[in-house]
Amino acid sequence: MTSELTLTLHGAARTVTGSCHEFVCGGSRVLVDCGMFQGSRTLEGLNQGAFGFDPRKVDAVVLTHAHIDHSGLLPRLVAEGFTGRIWCTQPTADLLEYMLADAGRIQEADTQRRNRRRDRAGEEEFAPLYTEADALAAWGQCASVEYEEWFEPAPGFRARFWNAGHILGSASAELQAGGTHVLCSGDLGPENKAFHPDPEGPAGFDHVLCESTYGDREREPVTIEMRRKLLEAEIRGALSRGGNLVIPTFALERTQELLLDIAELIRAKAIPDVPVFIDSPLASRATKVFARHADELEDVDPDCTFNCPNFHFTESVAESIRLNSVSGAIIMAASGMCEAGRIRHHLIHNLHKRESTVLFVGYQAEGTLGRVILEGAGRVRISGEDVIVRAAIRRIDSYSAHADQGELLDWIAARAPIGGTLFLVHGEQGALDTLRGMAANRVPGTNIATPEIGETYALPPGAPARRLKTGRSDLTRALGHDWQNSYAEFVTGLKRDLSRIDDQRERERAIAEMRKVLDSYTRFRADHKGRGRH
Ligand SMILES: [Zn+2]
Repeated sequence: MTSELTLTLHGAARTVTGSCHEFVCGGSRVLVDCGMFQGSRTLEGLNQGAFGFDPRKVDAVVLTHAHIDHSGLLPRLVAEGFTGRIWCTQPTADLLEYMLADAGRIQEADTQRRNRRRDRAGEEEFAPLYTEADALAAWGQCASVEYEEWFEPAPGFRARFWNAGHILGSASAELQAGGTHVLCSGDLGPENKAFHPDPEGPAGFDHVLCESTYGDREREPVTIEMRRKLLEAEIRGALSRGGNLVIPTFALERTQELLLDIAELIRAKAIPDVPVFIDSPLASRATKVFARHADELEDVDPDCTFNCPNFHFTESVAESIRLNSVSGAIIMAASGMCEAGRIRHHLIHNLHKRESTVLFVGYQAEGTLGRVILEGAGRVRISGEDVIVRAAIRRIDSYSAHADQGELLDWIAARAPIGGTLFLVHGEQGALDTLRGMAANRVPGTNIATPEIGETYALPPGAPARRLKTGRSDLTRALGHDWQNSYAEFVTGLKRDLSRIDDQRERERAIAEMRKVLDSYTRFRADHKGRGRH
């Protein structure tokens, strides 16, 4: 058995979700993260596929943070025979109890809904990817460690965590095995992030894996005070309109950042004494974990930030429905992109009112309801209801949990010298290509790789990584471009292309021709079905 350290990438390679890096050395096997693929259907389909390893032969998981794209397949790993420990920081373990249970409930509910449809069609039933019980079993395998404290996840492996400044409990994972010294960034936070110091870590590695989410984006530097001023202006504006301020938000971290800012604004009497409803059971539970760790967080007053008397955490559906009759309040609910959860119900009750305001504080992916509203739709369909949009639609885009291009490059430079290979992971192709070019200038002479899913590398000490096994190029192509991406690009360009046709009648003709093409596909399908029955 060779004692050289090897790395296989099972996700988050040329894409941003599904983080799972398998390290093997001298018969020991350690995973850094075991996340879920999220996004397009092609991506989510990968969650159903077999693991690229035998879960029973994994000795331990080293978990960087509680986000589902890093932790979401742990319940499945456990259900399929993994009995080792899941090493993480204490806040990550605390968050994981709720994050995984919530993910398990979503899997069960989704499966139930799909099975009702299949039952009516007389088709075989699906089993859920995992259940809430699987999720809690996985949580039971967590073992917590302090930042910067060495531990031994498996024979021959040493590891320790460094603050990554991304969300509560988030860490970069340093590994030593087979004489090789490696650092996995995990997700890295920006400078000027509420709650957490800037990312930390030692210098001098054989190999470094760095996330690249915003590898192609530079943000204007915004301090916490500047961000708070923006929020103050939005809240004042919304209250002067007289209706509710509805904020779609992510349950973990963004909700608590907003609560911190709102508590501060109320304390400083910069905004009126407004009631704030947090209408998301997951957000309420995550907030309790923040309150429990308040003395480890920057900017937080352990006695009052999360216990501000204006904050009301609604639990039951009945309490949530009672919010339909409130006015002049701030209502925060998940999900952040309005694709599910109680936010949809608050949008139904507020979007049609001129006095209401909807404030977006997070990224809205192409094709989500949040994006459609943000882009100015006059009418939207929510859970089968047609809703006219009269509310003021506002946004603040200076809240972020991710380092931008400059901050990623600073982090990489602070890890130098890197004697072997810098792997750029956790990014879309464009972000990877851009960051690769910039990193080549910033740490000249360093070997840089943008690996594919399924690739295996030998990680020798002090020398570039050697690729031992090729990856899934087919997958990379599919990930980069499934039909939903093509659709989004097509739709974005359509109006522009049509407006370039000068003549009104020519434009009409172009639309008619496109319709003819689409109709021909509908007919094709109908014919096809008809033939199938004979
Ligand atoms: Zn994350």
